[in-house]
Amino acid sequence: MPRDRFGREINYLRLSVIDHCNLRCVYCMPLRGLTFVPSEELLTAAEIETVVQAAVTVGFHKFRLTGGEPTLRPDIVDIVARIAGTPGVEDVAMTSNAILLPRLAKPLAEAGLRRINIHVDTFDHDRLKKIMRFGTIEEIEAGIAAAEDAGLRPIKINCVVTRDYNDKDVVEMARRAALERAWHVRFIELMPLGGGEAAHVALSQFVPSRETRERIEADLGPLIPVPTANASDESRNYRFADGAGIVGFISPVSEPYCGTCNRMRLTADGKFHLCLLNDDEMDVKRALRAGGGVPEVAAILAKAVAAKPTGHRLDEGISTEERSMFQIGG
Ligand code: SAM
Repeated sequence: MPRDRFGREINYLRLSVIDHCNLRCVYCMPLRGLTFVPSEELLTAAEIETVVQAAVTVGFHKFRLTGGEPTLRPDIVDIVARIAGTPGVEDVAMTSNAILLPRLAKPLAEAGLRRINIHVDTFDHDRLKKIMRFGTIEEIEAGIAAAEDAGLRPIKINCVVTRDYNDKDVVEMARRAALERAWHVRFIELMPLGGGEAAHVALSQFVPSRETRERIEADLGPLIPVPTANASDESRNYRFADGAGIVGFISPVSEPYCGTCNRMRLTADGKFHLCLLNDDEMDVKRALRAGGGVPEVAAILAKAVAAKPTGHRLDEGISTEERSMFQIGG
């Protein structure tokens, strides 16, 4: 098992496979001024497979595909099949906005995808237009239904809480997910990344998880803590006395969990990104395109693990400046 210099077991690789997205969430992607990685600079499916094979030799066993929006990759089913078919891979998951899942959920499940986290910030039509800007609730709901039908369970919903955009909708979201259904909704604190317009929104519209939790409890009753079996789970989980679902809070800003971080990230253009909220990276694409295979990639990944920072420094005003969330994948 790979351990970093602080003794943390790093065994979870999040792979961003594309930086394009079909939404423009206010805290993630500006409407104008975007530049994307040219398609020939994205890691190919075969290169991603080599990285995963190398990661397994280093001791990684958990993998998540993200973006941008991973379902926009035309070869996403092939990528999933390659990862799921790699000996030693125990878990393949994805984070998506669900819009393309009516077409893709079944083939993805058949290719070996086990679970999917679906990002939706509100089920209110007007506020969805304001915060996620493109896409409709009907499309997202159809995607969630397709994921359920394909057996991609449990359904986890990611909801980024943003003041004046969706902070009042958290009650309805918790009710729908955890009282009316058996979903797991996770309310996520905003993080400032990339230094631009989106980072500005993240800083100015920040809502601490404590406030979100108090708002939910005031309307729906007490939340009962659910002990986690997984020490690296970044979500603090609760349930209602009479609900089948889970309400979680991911609080990287107000309650950092860097001490139990088990993650490494791979950007779509082939860099290991050592900590979400820090610019340090190690290039792996150069080695792959110079003819390197599993041993060379494994050596770079082992170095990346060893160099992982102890934790983020948001309290000192330091964050990722070079990349925005859509370029890393969350
Ligand atoms: N397109 C997919 C999606 O929407 O889930 C995957 C990529 S998206 C960058 C991954 C996650 O990052 C989403 O669940 C979104 O909620 C979250 N996210 C984006 N910007 C964020 C920010 N500034 N702070 C906190 N979470 C953010």
